[in-house]
Amino acid sequence: MVDVIVIGAGIVGCAMAYTLSLTNLSVLVLEKNIEVLDEVSSSNSGIIHAGYDPDEGSLKARLNVRGAQLYQEWCPRLGVERLQCGGLVIAKAFDEMEALEALKVKAERRGIPFEVLNREAALAKEPHLTPEVIQALYFPSVAVIMPWAMGYALITNAVHNGVTLKTDEPVIGVTSGEYFTVKTPKGSYDAKMVINCAGLGGDGVARLHDPSLPQRLYFRKGEYQITDKFDGDYLNHVIYPVPSPIFGKGVLAIKTVEGNVMFGPNSQRIEDPYDNACTSEGLAEVQRKLPQIIVPMPLTRMIRQFAGVRPISVTKDFILEDKNGWVNAIGIDSPGLASAPAISEYLMNTFIVPRLNPVPIERSVLKSPKALHTLTPEERNQKINLHPDYGRIVCVCESVAKQDVVDATHGLVPAYTLKGIKRRLRPGSGRCQGGFCESRIVEILAQELHIDPSEVLYDTTGTQFLTKIGDSHD
Ligand SMILES: Cc1cc2nc3c(=O)[nH]c(=O)nc-3n(C[C@H](O)[C@H](O)[C@H](O)COP(=O)(O)OP(=O)(O)OC[C@H]3O[C@@H](n4cnc5c(N)ncnc54)[C@H](O)[C@@H]3O)c2cc1C
Repeated sequence: MVDVIVIGAGIVGCAMAYTLSLTNLSVLVLEKNIEVLDEVSSSNSGIIHAGYDPDEGSLKARLNVRGAQLYQEWCPRLGVERLQCGGLVIAKAFDEMEALEALKVKAERRGIPFEVLNREAALAKEPHLTPEVIQALYFPSVAVIMPWAMGYALITNAVHNGVTLKTDEPVIGVTSGEYFTVKTPKGSYDAKMVINCAGLGGDGVARLHDPSLPQRLYFRKGEYQITDKFDGDYLNHVIYPVPSPIFGKGVLAIKTVEGNVMFGPNSQRIEDPYDNACTSEGLAEVQRKLPQIIVPMPLTRMIRQFAGVRPISVTKDFILEDKNGWVNAIGIDSPGLASAPAISEYLMNTFIVPRLNPVPIERSVLKSPKALHTLTPEERNQKINLHPDYGRIVCVCESVAKQDVVDATHGLVPAYTLKGIKRRLRPGSGRCQGGFCESRIVEILAQELHIDPSEVLYDTTGTQFLTKIGDSHD
């Protein structure tokens, strides 16, 4: 029996596991996929919003503001890069200036710093803004992170602090009495409390515990286009249009930590939460809306497109509730990434402390390893002296060394798949999109996992991408 089972290792589950690991409670994390952070938390804008947008009095408003504060502590503590680039909300017409006024009021109430910029000042800050801009609100605290870098840092430290992580273990049943028994195809696990952080599967997992619950989530897909990292100079900030009640924050232009520029997301209602395919209509919508905020870049600069799906609650707010020791943390759409540290803090203080009375424990910190391209020549040489394969480059676009790939397959939260390696180290994220490095990564994975190259997976079960000569092609 453990004290707490966390279901789902997205950013919310990882933040929860990390927060729990700073106490004396015993914790088990059960994740459906082979890799952690493989659903909503892997495909989003990566923005730590300032918190001026959510409705007054909502959990989103309160936890976004607090989450943004906590990232300022957590990122340096865990060695995760956070680029405080600031954000500009653009008005191009009189009614949009009214919308800026409403944002100003909310920002003032929440203590979020901002500046009002006239057209000239806005264009001086961001030369590629739409020439139609007439006023902008500048929020200096807006930042961007790599969501999975944060997630890996959290779950790695949680495991370092004693949390048990089991991946490839979907929760398929629950019984409750004196305690909870959570079932997966591989086993049954008992716990005093369960925290449901199952993202897109949140409704289904909540109903395993209470089948009388109605469906409370619906889904909206958002599609993106992204440039090479050498295009970072095109943009200095995150650029927002004025928000809309239906489409939320709207199509944005986003400067990323790594230097890529990202455009999107649109917001398309979908029925299947796992439909994350890009569509020509969705990408066309992104391109159509971009001129409302910036002078668009030529399409030839885009190296990839991707989509993510938001699990949205019918109340439009996060659902954070305790049902006799079973806690649902679901309906976590934007600003869920920005709020994740504060969601875990809220769940801890509101539900876990009163039931389990945990004792805080001082823990050592495992800082995230620095990417090769950020090392000084001296630091590189030190690593190469440890092992010559730190000097053997397997991904030229993103400067990834062979030994870093090897290390990633043997870490506290090991990578098992090509996507797991790509998220941790970025091979395949550059202009060649894996054309050069993919076969090398497959070779290393096969060697380190002691499997045949034809068994190496892209991400989930059944995603082998090599076929052995002589195999059936039926
Ligand atoms: C297009 C888009 C843009 C966004 N942009 C931003 C942004 O810029 N800033 C921001 O703050 N937020 C943003 N968000 C929202 C943010 O990404 C989410 O709020 C956040 O990632 C949700 O995290 P999660 O942990 O709840 O869900 P997930 O990351 O989906 O994690 C849930 C986990 O539960 C697992 N799971 C599901 N069912 C089971 C089961 N039965 N058993 C075991 N495990 C299970 C899943 O495999 C998954 O790993 C955006 C979202 C989208 C889609």
